[in-house]
Amino acid sequence: MSTFDLNAKRPLIISGPCSAETEEQTLETCKQLAATGLVDVLRAGIWKPRTRPGTFEGVGLKGLAWMARAKEETGLPIAVEVATPKHVESALEFGVDVLWIGARTTVSPFAIQDIADALKGKDQVTVLIKNPMNPDLELWAGAVARFMNAGVDPKRIGLIHRGFSYFGHSKYRNAPMWHLIIEMRSRFPEMAMICDPSHICGCRDYLAEVSQTAADLRFDGLIVESHICPEKALSDAAQQLTPADFSEMIRHINWRADSVDDPKFVKALKGYRNEIDQIDSEVFELLSRRMRVAENIGRVKRENNVAILQGGRWNSIVDKITAQAEKLQLSPEFLKTVLEAIHIESINRQNQIMNS
Ligand code: PEP
Ligand code: MN
Repeated sequence: MSTFDLNAKRPLIISGPCSAETEEQTLETCKQLAATGLVDVLRAGIWKPRTRPGTFEGVGLKGLAWMARAKEETGLPIAVEVATPKHVESALEFGVDVLWIGARTTVSPFAIQDIADALKGKDQVTVLIKNPMNPDLELWAGAVARFMNAGVDPKRIGLIHRGFSYFGHSKYRNAPMWHLIIEMRSRFPEMAMICDPSHICGCRDYLAEVSQTAADLRFDGLIVESHICPEKALSDAAQQLTPADFSEMIRHINWRADSVDDPKFVKALKGYRNEIDQIDSEVFELLSRRMRVAENIGRVKRENNVAILQGGRWNSIVDKITAQAEKLQLSPEFLKTVLEAIHIESINRQNQIMNS
């Protein structure tokens, strides 16, 4: 029975290979990671949910024995991904301390319910639930609820942010969408939130910057993939770090203080916050005025029986504003996002007026 306490240490650092591949690779990676003194939990994928069949799907049961050996030799708790009740049963037999639910499993309420049922009465188990592939907090919250309903102690449930799959181009393999994580944290404030920079980035070059952002957003820890020879890894080769590079990266993360009492700092912060509140109120006052003008446009269009969408007009608004991006010191992407939100609301208003 595991004595692992998810809340005993901050930041909580989990590391290990994406997949256990051979006994030597698993043990050597785990031993080198343990020797850095920076790791609290060792991880390895044993059963790999792969997009395409025929790619490396994990070594299965024998990998559990290798992880059990890594635990014995390093004294560190171990974590593996489980996706079925059978996985849960085998992992617990081998003394796995932490079970994690992969992003492809969190999307499936049936699978989650089966796993939650398998955990009934197992009151020492710790479960980390990754966000679903798609940016749907209800699905993630639903998985949390299923484990809680099965009797898993909320103090033994943690959340892992591994980014969201999305359509389009991004620097990262999975979009971080940090705002969604902030929302999830406010729904489950008592639950540890761990960042998985490896699966967000998909490429080792960005791991340090994403890890630092996680630290600055007060995440409770990190789960980072590491491999003794990343180029030869059978899964996620581009995003894994050698234990030496992992150690270098972790030591450079600045986990800043949550708050300080220095009166000068407190006063400065309060001043800036007041300023922001004032500006927000002005911004939304202006947006409200803008919508009332949009409604007036709706009225004249209705009176003249003219369609809402006037070809070219919207593009010219977007071009005019984005041409000012540099002068405003705002990124064109940000301006486009704001303009799009304004456009949607504006069309809704005109639509209401024209069809009322
Ligand atoms: C993993 O942690 O190796 C993994 C498969 O992650 P995810 O479920 O986030 O894709
Ligand atoms: Mn992986």
